[in-house]
Amino acid sequence: MKALVWQGKNTVKVIECPKPKIIEPRDVILKITGSTVCGSDLHLLHGSVVELEKGDILGHEFCGVIDQVGSEIKNHKVGDRVVASFQIACGDCMYCHKKLSSQCEKTNSNTIENAMYGGRTAGMFGYSHFTGGFAGGQAEYTRVPYGDVNLLHLPDDVPDEKGLYLSDVVSTSWNCVVDTGVKEGDVVAIWGAGPIGQMCIDFSYMNGAKRVIVIDQNWRLDYCKSKYPNIETIDFSNLPKGETVVSTLKKMEHGGPDIALECVAGEYPKGWAHTIELMTGLETDTSEIINEMIESVKNYGRCGITGVYVGYTNHFNIGSLMERGIRLIGNGQAPVHLYWEKLLKMIQEGKIDPLKMVTHRVRMEDLDKVYYKFDKKEDGMQKVYVET
Ligand code: NAD
Ligand code: ZN
Ligand code: ZN
Repeated sequence: MKALVWQGKNTVKVIECPKPKIIEPRDVILKITGSTVCGSDLHLLHGSVVELEKGDILGHEFCGVIDQVGSEIKNHKVGDRVVASFQIACGDCMYCHKKLSSQCEKTNSNTIENAMYGGRTAGMFGYSHFTGGFAGGQAEYTRVPYGDVNLLHLPDDVPDEKGLYLSDVVSTSWNCVVDTGVKEGDVVAIWGAGPIGQMCIDFSYMNGAKRVIVIDQNWRLDYCKSKYPNIETIDFSNLPKGETVVSTLKKMEHGGPDIALECVAGEYPKGWAHTIELMTGLETDTSEIINEMIESVKNYGRCGITGVYVGYTNHFNIGSLMERGIRLIGNGQAPVHLYWEKLLKMIQEGKIDPLKMVTHRVRMEDLDKVYYKFDKKEDGMQKVYVET
């Protein structure tokens, strides 16, 4: 079968690989029909996640048709059309019982590095040996461990192109908004207008936000404004002399926003590789965005972090946080299983349309070229649908 594999720093390739087989009784073999590339995949492309090995198959957002089922799979059958969650949960542990699947105790790889990272991240498809070394779904077939819990049926009225994004981006953005606590009348500021930030716009309005302000650079803000005409924007790379993101927000809204959502992180000021150095504990640093969030929100404001951070940090404004009663919330890797049925219904009812963020449709054979284009943001490439 064809699959997209990591070949070394900044090199990925579509090559022939062996078709996966059932290993465990709860495995499902999925014939992939659609997948996508996530902002998080670029950290892998750059070789910034150290536990990658040459030949690892990438991809953590995918859907498909069931090709084979293990002997203990009772709720799915061959031919069913399904979407996979980006994390691999066992369904049985303490966290899985609460549907907090991103914290699954059984699939957590529990390496020393993972312990420094936080030690509580469930296995993930196509995301290096750091998250369990599971092969990903940018391939013609993949093995889905615990297939009874990690696959959701797609009804006839939800095409693959829409259902696919329940895997990650739709569930992640919903988690960001509800976990941070957006409520009726809130003013919400969103850092990062990538696919995650964009879905957070929809969900903020849906949860009652009266005003949404998005912070990014113009090329992304223009796309956002074309899809969400009601939003206001701040171009952080082109502020008037003497102004900052914080001063601009304070001028736009008395006291600042109620809510700050962090949907960036991959663009950490010194680069993702630097955050790996931080894991050693030898250096400390803080993304400026975290300080911007703490300093700009109203007193008792809430700041949610969905952009991925690792390791230790320092030099953030703890004084402001304490005195002004700011809630700083790590949203975690989104527990997809907690939300995906509800979100599927929203897609069916037309309340959300994930296609809004999709800019390109490509073929599996061209996936390596997509990585390079997506990395350089060529052709306005933002979210692709990979037809397999
Ligand atoms: P993306 O790279 O497409 O978008 C990030 C955006 O942030 C870019 O448009 C960039 O211009 C902007 N940006 C950079 N520096 C900024 C700054 N100083 N202020 C404001 N904006 C800035 O990424 P994405 O796919 O939208 O994902 C966003 C983040 O969410 C990534 O870190 C990704 O790894 C993470 N993520 C988290 C989860 C989770 O479960 N927690 C799941 C998926 C993705
Ligand atoms: Zn992702
Ligand atoms: Zn579990």
